[in-house]
Amino acid sequence: MENLSRYFLLGAGTLAGPFTFTDRVQMDSDKIYLDYNATTPVDPRVFKEIAQVARENFGNPSSSHCFGRPAAEIVKRARQQVSALLNAEPEEICFTSGGTESDNLALKGVVFPHLAKGRKPHLIISAVEHPAVAESCRYLESLGAVITRLPVAEDGTLAAAQVASALKDETVLVSLMLANNETGVLFPLAEIAALTRSRGILLHTDAVQAFGKVEIDVKALGVDLLSISGHKVYAPKGVGALWLRSGVELEPLLHGGGQEGGLRSGTENLAGMTGLGMACEILGSGMAVEGLRIQQLRDHLESELAATLDQQLIFHGHRQLRVPNTISLSIPYIDGEALLAHLDLEDIAVSAGSACSSGEHQGSPVLRAMGISSELAQGSLRISLGRWTTRAEVDSFVEKFTTIVRRLWAISPLYPKR
Ligand code: PLP
Repeated sequence: MENLSRYFLLGAGTLAGPFTFTDRVQMDSDKIYLDYNATTPVDPRVFKEIAQVARENFGNPSSSHCFGRPAAEIVKRARQQVSALLNAEPEEICFTSGGTESDNLALKGVVFPHLAKGRKPHLIISAVEHPAVAESCRYLESLGAVITRLPVAEDGTLAAAQVASALKDETVLVSLMLANNETGVLFPLAEIAALTRSRGILLHTDAVQAFGKVEIDVKALGVDLLSISGHKVYAPKGVGALWLRSGVELEPLLHGGGQEGGLRSGTENLAGMTGLGMACEILGSGMAVEGLRIQQLRDHLESELAATLDQQLIFHGHRQLRVPNTISLSIPYIDGEALLAHLDLEDIAVSAGSACSSGEHQGSPVLRAMGISSELAQGSLRISLGRWTTRAEVDSFVEKFTTIVRRLWAISPLYPKR
């Protein structure tokens, strides 16, 4: 009986540091996963840690007895692991259920007290924010907040000067993503922080897609609030964190027993916190090396696709100012959803636009905001690489992808026949 499973070995040295044992993730042999921006598999080292905690620690961290105390220690250690990766203080970490909750807590937590005082607080976001930010703002708008949505350039970038000219006396919060989930393009948060800080305005960044892909030092970055999510960094789904600079005051969204310093009540998700903590420790031991490896694979993939398909693909987003793992492209004369379905038949997982918006057929809102035509936006694809992407997988993807694209071009009435 043929063994359908393959084990990718993460050899010692791929991730340097204290993890010298062999780490393996099980992948189905024939499937190609290039959708790491949607979610990542749980790292076996993270899984091992979670399993141990789940087996050995069921105490409530708030209990002062001999079952509660070790549980409280586990929460403390996870807080230290997450804060260490951000160059933050442990007490500045508020664990949440993920990126969406972190974003909601940051935005609503800042704005609610202003609304309660009958003011009309002003917020600045970009036109390409994730729905967790964009929809929170739409809700706050319905309650009386005023929102400015900054446009982005055709390459997906945003200039700090745009923020400078949008600031008003009533501005209480600027919320801009660090890296875009579809294009990977980075925003100049450090430059923007210099502007907001001098005016006493809070700056939040949704760092869900940047975290784990580029190094983040909150002290150097200068922001006040930063959202991260576990399932984008090889920890499980259902855990994330909001980092908030000490001294920043937020209105909690969940009221109850006062856990997480009163900011997020509810008995702690011990397994999730452990997983996120361990994921951060792993990232801390090899992010630069791993980032370079992934970038080289990404660049190889891009140039192979461009060469094989006669330069007919259109790549989106700034070529340099982006995270190392993401490719956003459009294939002229082909509908992205149709292409996705053909790729799926070959067991290839990529994404048309962001995973959160797939199912909608108007083309990617992010690309539309970059001024890309609706035809090209509808033919767009996001390819995102990660920890277990190999050269063999990339080459196999290129071969299968180009075959499918040529086949679809051949039957497309729009494709110019030569
Ligand atoms: N922010 C960005 C930029 C994202 O890409 C995502 C998820 O795709 C989120 C927020 C939401 O995170 P979560 O899935 O943990 O709620």
